Amino acid sequence: MTLDAVVASVLDRITPEIGQGRVADYIPALARVDPSKIGIAVATLDGGLHTAGDAHEAFSIQSVSKVFTLALALGKVGSDLWQRVGREPSGSAFNSIVQLERESGIPRNPFINAGAIVVSDILLAGGRPKETTAEILSFLRRLADDDTVAIDAEVAASEAETGYRNLSLANFMKAFGTIDGPVADTLDVYFHQCALSLSCAQLARAGLFLANRGVDPVTRQRVVAEYRARRINALMMTCGHYDASGDFAFRVGLPGKSGVGGGILAIAPGRAAVAVWSPGLNDSGNSHAGTIALEELARETGWSVF
Ligand code: GLN
Repeated sequence: MTLDAVVASVLDRITPEIGQGRVADYIPALARVDPSKIGIAVATLDGGLHTAGDAHEAFSIQSVSKVFTLALALGKVGSDLWQRVGREPSGSAFNSIVQLERESGIPRNPFINAGAIVVSDILLAGGRPKETTAEILSFLRRLADDDTVAIDAEVAASEAETGYRNLSLANFMKAFGTIDGPVADTLDVYFHQCALSLSCAQLARAGLFLANRGVDPVTRQRVVAEYRARRINALMMTCGHYDASGDFAFRVGLPGKSGVGGGILAIAPGRAAVAVWSPGLNDSGNSHAGTIALEELARETGWSVF
């Protein structure tokens, strides 16, 4: 089967699942998203793009952004980053606070909210939030090879207004000394990165360097060192779906990162980057239909890393 046929058949297979699960409503701007949206995009190392459904419509990538900010922060501070963030699956919800107290304010990994807030703080590095946000945006534009990639200011504002949990996590970590910057500045960066708006086509293209040992296969630019690409993939596999990471590895068998906007980026090393979007979430805050789409795609292509 060609990849175009595979994505078309995956779309057919998951159509009955669309509308199941619940759209994230703790961020009011996300609650307004049409739950019937579904997009799939596969970007291959040769520059090919195979899409189905609403693959060209931009959506809030939310926590999928944590993959890109981690790549950017590792490029800046290197392995020192691991003094402030761990590398173990948390086994807890994405916004859980309980582990932080027991573990002296060091978040388990960079993909739960607490860990990603620390990564935002590392990128901020005592600077101005607007400049750090602009740096993250230009990184995404470069990776997607598309200057139209944008941040949805309404989503960022909506999160800032209702982000009580993130505020708690950040203040708690500040008390332990894990956060350097003023909490308000660090969270300003975090909320804006979560409000990055990309289509499945743009997101798959942006993730392609992770499928190609850290080099963008189209522009031939190195984004991260090869060993870092491997490690980011390892973290996506072990931590990318919070307390459902084991289930995702079991069902899909690819490194993946989800977001509460309903998007998931999955990496098939040496082959492709895949992005899916369906806003209905399961109980762990991961896309219900999107996970099934990736499960089907991995089965049809045989792309599991195992
Ligand atoms: N912006 C969201 C939050 O901080 C991101 C969570 C997610 O996508 N899992 O709550």
